[in-house]
Amino acid sequence: MYPKNQLFIAGRWRDGGAGETLPVLNPATEDEIGRFAVATEADLDEALRRRQRLRETWRKVPAVERAARLHRAGAILRERAEEIARVLTLELGAPIAAARMEVMIAADVFDWSAGEARRVYGRLIPSRFPGVRQLAVREPVGVVFAASPWNMPVIFPSRKIAEALAAGCAIIVKPAEDTPGCATLVVRALEDAGIPPGVVNLVTGDPGFISRHLLASPVVRKLSFTGSVPVGKQLAALAAARMIRCTMELGGHAPTIVMDDAPVEPVALMLAERKARNSGQVCNSPTRLFVQSGVYERFRAAFAEALRAVRIGDPLDAATQMGPLVNRRRMRAVEELVADARQQGARLAGGDGRIGNRGFFHDLTLLDQVPDTARIMREEPFGPVAALQPFDRLDEAIERANRLPFGLAAYAFSASRRSLDELAERLEVGLLGLNHCNIAAAETPFGGVKESGYGSEGGSEGIEGYLVTKFVTEAPPPA
Ligand code: NAD
Repeated sequence: MYPKNQLFIAGRWRDGGAGETLPVLNPATEDEIGRFAVATEADLDEALRRRQRLRETWRKVPAVERAARLHRAGAILRERAEEIARVLTLELGAPIAAARMEVMIAADVFDWSAGEARRVYGRLIPSRFPGVRQLAVREPVGVVFAASPWNMPVIFPSRKIAEALAAGCAIIVKPAEDTPGCATLVVRALEDAGIPPGVVNLVTGDPGFISRHLLASPVVRKLSFTGSVPVGKQLAALAAARMIRCTMELGGHAPTIVMDDAPVEPVALMLAERKARNSGQVCNSPTRLFVQSGVYERFRAAFAEALRAVRIGDPLDAATQMGPLVNRRRMRAVEELVADARQQGARLAGGDGRIGNRGFFHDLTLLDQVPDTARIMREEPFGPVAALQPFDRLDEAIERANRLPFGLAAYAFSASRRSLDELAERLEVGLLGLNHCNIAAAETPFGGVKESGYGSEGGSEGIEGYLVTKFVTEAPPPA
């Protein structure tokens, strides 16, 4: 049932040139569930060579036809939702119910991008001179290299592929090493939807090597990256050397402000559900919780209780709400951050560390009265841990929220119009949820500011990242 993860180059599935493969583990059991192919330099060169010829064919396909094939890809994902969801759960450890939802969201992304393909307009600009025509035309940027993380292994490759294809670009996708199976199944859906050979390509292997090689090629004109800030900076530097356009969806450390006048218990429940999502391995997971002094104790108690109630266990069990972390590296990172905070005086208000000794299960952990010096107040935890701090004045909470170089998501809860307006104006983020946490949908722009990156995916902004503007002006032949 777990797919054979090969390279997909110029419409052909095949092993890496040297026959090398690497293992994929099930994080719930630590067992090997499959392997993925390692691309060699010759494999990558093959992908680059074929691109130049084939990309022309796709950009010339009428937008309405490109849209039809993207809708078809979305429909195939829905038809195969159960199969894809199981693979997602096996390699990432996300609960099966969440995995099914992720596949449906990815299908929705294909539908949205299909619609966007039909709405790429140019402009006719009035000229200063008689008889002169001035056109601003939108064209596909060219060949895209996209690298995606493991934490939403169906949505992220889908979003990059859907937007690139909608714009008329060809794409080489490199999924994360922990979750290649989901990308394999997404690319199979595109193949079966009639996307011509060579338009979508899948490569796996050593991420540093693949990125360096592809970004050094004059064929690649665009980089779309979702991942951590440090890797994003490295790739942006490589892209800068060749002036390659970038969309950078990087890490966050979402501040969450709860004011005295917010309904404490419903907010605590909502935030606990968010925190548990994907074991906290979500770029916009609420991480630094600033709670106003008047409701601090009440909030802490309600939040701790809501976290305790989350059912952690076998992700293939339909009743499970939270599964394991993706790998040993994340487990260690979370354990280190919790130990450091406690050493610096934070109190453990919930959670009990590692669960069991098989699989990467970690309890939902609540750290109370965390000092600013603790590493977790600066470093993205990307795991099932939240840090709580009290505050008195809104000004103080906003200042603390904006203190870090991250600027991805924030949440705030208040009944006061004035407070909400002030938060909306002053929080330095790309995504802000006021009185709720639903900040992502196919039709809305998603992206950060500051070190969390630049450019947006989704919404009408998403396709923009794959288009360039050409100005064409024409006068009557000179007399
Ligand atoms: P990561 O940066 O380690 O990996 C992401 C991608 O980069 C993967 O494809 C990986 O193979 C590749 N990569 C890793 N090392 C590389 C290297 N040296 N050179 C080139 N490529 C390399 O991040 P991760 O741990 O997989 O994912 C978690 C991070 O992603 C978190 O920081 C999270 O906040 C961020 N993220 C951001 C968003 C967003 O939309 N802003 C969404 C999801 C995740």
